[in-house]
Amino acid sequence: MRETSWAPSEERAKPKTAPDAATLLAWYDVSARVLPWRVRGSAKPDPYRVWLSEIMLQQTRVETVLPYFAKFLARWPDLISLANARQEEVLSAWAGLGYYARARNLHACARTVSAEYSGRFPEDEAELRRLPGIGAYTAAAISAIAFGRKATPVDGNIERVMSRLFAVEEKLPAAKKALARLAAEMTPAHRAGDFAQALMDLGATICTPKNPACTICPWMESCAARVRGDQQTFPRKIAKAEGRLRKGAAFVVIREDGHILLRTRADKGLLASMTEVPGSEWSADYRASTKAAPLANMAAPLANIKWLKAAETVRHVFTHFPLELTVYTAQAPARTKAPKGMRFVQLRALGDEALPSVMRKVIAHALEFGGKQKSKGRAKK
Ligand code: SF4
Repeated sequence: MRETSWAPSEERAKPKTAPDAATLLAWYDVSARVLPWRVRGSAKPDPYRVWLSEIMLQQTRVETVLPYFAKFLARWPDLISLANARQEEVLSAWAGLGYYARARNLHACARTVSAEYSGRFPEDEAELRRLPGIGAYTAAAISAIAFGRKATPVDGNIERVMSRLFAVEEKLPAAKKALARLAAEMTPAHRAGDFAQALMDLGATICTPKNPACTICPWMESCAARVRGDQQTFPRKIAKAEGRLRKGAAFVVIREDGHILLRTRADKGLLASMTEVPGSEWSADYRASTKAAPLANMAAPLANIKWLKAAETVRHVFTHFPLELTVYTAQAPARTKAPKGMRFVQLRALGDEALPSVMRKVIAHALEFGGKQKSKGRAKK
């Protein structure tokens, strides 16, 4: 066991052996998850696939990424085809995957690599980090997995594994540097990419946040926290304050000829350039209106339509704050013109729009509410 300032105290039980890369790699050879961007044995990974998967996996679970990865590969099988796509097409294909800055950066990165690197990703971590959307973790992951360079990507999963393996008492986020150093020190010069993926698999499938499956862990004998018996209490963390709840209103206008009123968000900030239904600002002190004209200042074509307020709000949680939207619905006559800066889009063409998850929820909620109102109306007749 290496000497560290955060090592468990003397009276605590200690493992008899130190964790090593070879043990983890032997486990990986028989237990690796089969994923479409991975190769086995001596086959060479495709840097485009590795990069695409790493961008999609940022803050997102593997199961969620799989269908998007397949869709992107079918549509843009290589970097050049993605670079030649229009940004709206990429945003639209990304819709539902969240963290939309990633899609814009993905496209910008494809264009940069195509224009400045003749379509080939650089191998070096530092050079990869200069590309749009590639931070320290992703650069290390691509460098190690796609090119076999000695690099160590460290995310929350790997921090958790390291903190348990060495029973690191220092609290996150201050402990980040120490945890990254521990992971880097364990990384072998040979098979660095497999080591990175083995750590990712271990963190995702065995050393999970709750109830880690220590009895089937390849490092069971050498894990300091497991030997002490308090592995679930790691990593130590400073309690963080939750973002304050923001509220707002969403206005869903459906035209009688099956069109919905939409607009495009500003090209900077949260959900930049994505599609949305018109709505209010989102703020902590928003008060939902009970009056019938929440969009009273909407331009003339829609100034006099009748609004209904859906009984239930729509909730969504962003990284930094939870959001609660009051949904108002209205029906407009066929062929009503859209106010300036907005457009009517056929409901059946919604799949082509870059709609973020929160807006999908709003529209689904409004359509369900509209359906119930219609049935009530019919029942009264
Ligand atoms: S023994 Fe348990 S706590 Fe330790 S690394 Fe393995 S799964 Fe995690």
